[in-house]
Amino acid sequence: MTLRTRFAPSPTGFLHIGGARTALFCHLHTRHYGGTTILRVEDTDLERSKQEAVDAILDGMHWLGLDPDEGPYFQSANREKHLDIVDQLLIAERAYRCYCSKEELDQMRDEQRSAGLKPRYDGRCRDRGSAPTPDAPYVIRFRRPKVGEVIWQDKIQGEVRVRNDELDDLILVRSDGSPTYNLAVVVDDHNMGINLVIRGEDHLSNTPRQIQLFEALAWDVPEYAHMPLLHGEDGAKLSKRHGAVSVLAFKEDGFLASAVNNYLVRLGWSHGDQEIFTTKEMEELFDICEVGRSAAIFNSDKLLWINSHHIMDAQPEDLLEELTYQLQRIGIEGVENSRLLEIIPEFQERSKTMVEMAQKIAFLFIDELPPYEPNAAKKHMKIAAIGPLSELTSRLESCQDWSHDSIEKVFKSILDAFGIKMGKLAQPVRVALTGTATSPGIYETLCLLGRQKTISRLKAGVVFLEEKAAAAE
Ligand code: GLU
Repeated sequence: MTLRTRFAPSPTGFLHIGGARTALFCHLHTRHYGGTTILRVEDTDLERSKQEAVDAILDGMHWLGLDPDEGPYFQSANREKHLDIVDQLLIAERAYRCYCSKEELDQMRDEQRSAGLKPRYDGRCRDRGSAPTPDAPYVIRFRRPKVGEVIWQDKIQGEVRVRNDELDDLILVRSDGSPTYNLAVVVDDHNMGINLVIRGEDHLSNTPRQIQLFEALAWDVPEYAHMPLLHGEDGAKLSKRHGAVSVLAFKEDGFLASAVNNYLVRLGWSHGDQEIFTTKEMEELFDICEVGRSAAIFNSDKLLWINSHHIMDAQPEDLLEELTYQLQRIGIEGVENSRLLEIIPEFQERSKTMVEMAQKIAFLFIDELPPYEPNAAKKHMKIAAIGPLSELTSRLESCQDWSHDSIEKVFKSILDAFGIKMGKLAQPVRVALTGTATSPGIYETLCLLGRQKTISRLKAGVVFLEEKAAAAE
């Protein structure tokens, strides 16, 4: 039997990191065993379902490389199918109309509470027969089995048992004629041939009800894997309060999709003590049965650490898209890919995020002088550097060949001429060229920046120092 899994988000907001983890686990398990992933948008709550949310979910999944093999299917399109099944259940007397008013139900629950019982529907309309008045509103409820129990072997939770008498007769169709979640999910899972349902532990209480329905309809019951939920560092269930929880906010913050996937896969799953996984490795190794049961805690430092490894290990080509995106965000457009490919390797080990990489390379593309970071200028732009810096400028100006070796020779000649150490020359040069005290190797920095910008920035650095000297007199 070929595996068919689904990711079934409700489009009420963006794709958050918890939903992305569910989509990822479905994707990885299905890739490992060979099968089909299906995206089903559960948009039956039309008031809360928004087109922007559907787009945000699709964009988030696409960015993470989790495009489904089938879909998106929209649950609202299957409404007639859901209702047809209820007609069958009514005919078979596995469902009934319940005419209880809100007041009656409230009173019933109050009485149950005061008798120390768990409030739930007591089945009083099961045998009511006809409507109390011809146009009385009603809901349709499932006539659940009262004895026995529902048992399933959850791929994460292990064996789960729920006694049928702990459940009540669940509503299948609301008084406005709309199908409920549990009905729609069972009918869709069946019609779509889903044989493994991977979803969050928050749905555990729905599963016995859904299994009862599958059994009442004599349909094959899928297998289930209920994933532990994701919590924030404070231990509370992850929510917007915890900051960047939308998947696309991670893209904006300069994380790589492969790193986000790698981080998410480690929340609940491990493979020896390996921390860094390529997407291909995850697809080969991941097995939902190996996911642990304890709640996963979101830790932004760990994500950052994984991201820096993915940036370091990436092929420069694989960073082009995200780097171009980040450069655009800071107003740098139109840089040729071939030029970026020369630059990227010099910055991979220095950038924990793609935002950082874009910021670090921005000095190469701006036409104006880079503003000096005050601390860097204070520490390195000393009056004593005027001589070496101006001599370096003129020797570089007459240097014929702008290569690493020739530039190195010019630097060495200055060190000899002034009897100074490299730091005393390279650091003021760095500040003059980049505005900061950190950059790749100084010769690489000059090569990347090019002759013209190097010379003009060095000249501006000399002017800066001369003004400083004049002000000090
Ligand atoms: N639509 C449900 C949700 O977003 C998931 C339903 C399911 O996986 O069965 O929580």
